[in-house]
Amino acid sequence: MSIYESLGLTPIINVSGSVTRLGGAPMPAAVVDAFRAAADECVPLDQLQGVASRIIAELTGAEAGIVTSGAAAALTLGTAAILARFDLARMEQLPQCVGFPCEFVVPREQRNGYDHAVRAAGAKLVEVGFHEPVAGSGVRRCEAWEIAAAIGPQTAGVLYVQDADGRPPLAEVVAEAHAHGLPVLVDAAGELPPRENLKRIIASGADLVAFSGGKAIRGPQASGILCGRRELVGSAALQMLDLDDHFELWDPPQHLIDKSRLRGMPRHGIGRALKVSKEQIVALLTALRLFASGAYDRQRADMQQDLERVAGSLAGLPATAELLVPGDGQSAPLLEIKLDQARLGRTAWDVCRQLRSGSPPVFVGHGQLDRGVLVIHPLHLNEERTTALIQRLAAVLRSS
Ligand SMILES: *Cc1c(COP(=O)(O)O)cnc(C)c1O
Repeated sequence: MSIYESLGLTPIINVSGSVTRLGGAPMPAAVVDAFRAAADECVPLDQLQGVASRIIAELTGAEAGIVTSGAAAALTLGTAAILARFDLARMEQLPQCVGFPCEFVVPREQRNGYDHAVRAAGAKLVEVGFHEPVAGSGVRRCEAWEIAAAIGPQTAGVLYVQDADGRPPLAEVVAEAHAHGLPVLVDAAGELPPRENLKRIIASGADLVAFSGGKAIRGPQASGILCGRRELVGSAALQMLDLDDHFELWDPPQHLIDKSRLRGMPRHGIGRALKVSKEQIVALLTALRLFASGAYDRQRADMQQDLERVAGSLAGLPATAELLVPGDGQSAPLLEIKLDQARLGRTAWDVCRQLRSGSPPVFVGHGQLDRGVLVIHPLHLNEERTTALIQRLAAVLRSS
């Protein structure tokens, strides 16, 4: 019996990909093994983050890095680092920022639900620019001069949400921020693959970059990476680690936390609620190495086969399928199922709801229901689940 069945729950067919709401990405066996092995012994967590820093630095080209409890946690910690640096009194005060700058300039079009993680550390967001193509009012988007114009004595940094066609380009934003002596914090949570982005974003000059560990990297769902400048990553580590020790006895890894710059130890910081376990750290590092080595690319052929089976099964049903195979050799193929809503007499919303409520429940990608399209992401599929998915699709699309 499945562990979830023993708890009275029915496991679902997740064809939405690595979404957090449905449990994230499947961890490869080597990652689960690493998690279990890490549970057998103890090590000081600051030393373990010191090792993580070296591995993350090697794979990203950053000066330093830590494992966090997710990209959102990395954003909170990165913000806290920019606000407090190595100032113990500021660390103690966060998320209050009385007497020091706390504004982060951000392109308005990049505002999103995850920037709550930045505000949670105490930052105030200052929005600039317009996305006139979306507003239907023009052709221009946010421009770098608008970021520069918003910088003032209360500015602490710049927040940037990475996207392949993001505007302004990151390099231009970095140039403006650095000209004013300000750091840039980049949310790159979902920007992997391509794995080249592990290095490319840091190489653009970003001071801190947040990646999700529970998406394409396939580490533990509640894991992430914060990497960037040593001083900032060290401050983030200080504000997350449990530091209930005596300053005289404490021996943090020098390459991550420069003890000589501290007059004492901070109390539990704003990141204490974002702590990561030794098992999460070791498992994430294992997954990161797999991801960075290209080990996941080989699974694309199997994924494509699963999707082709699903596409082939739709013959005669009021739907057509289109297989999308990204040309980067890394991203997962996707299947878009376009419903003939008139012939069905039901909308894609109805079909999505019916798929969720049957047995086993099927959760499809639901970002394009208004276009009458169900998206099938193959990340969690195997032969058995593909068979179950085909049966559920047939049953729902055949019924009237
Ligand atoms: C997924 C995502 C996050 C959050 O990542 P977690 O690792 O789940 O905390 C933040 N920002 C963006 C843009 C994302 O897509």
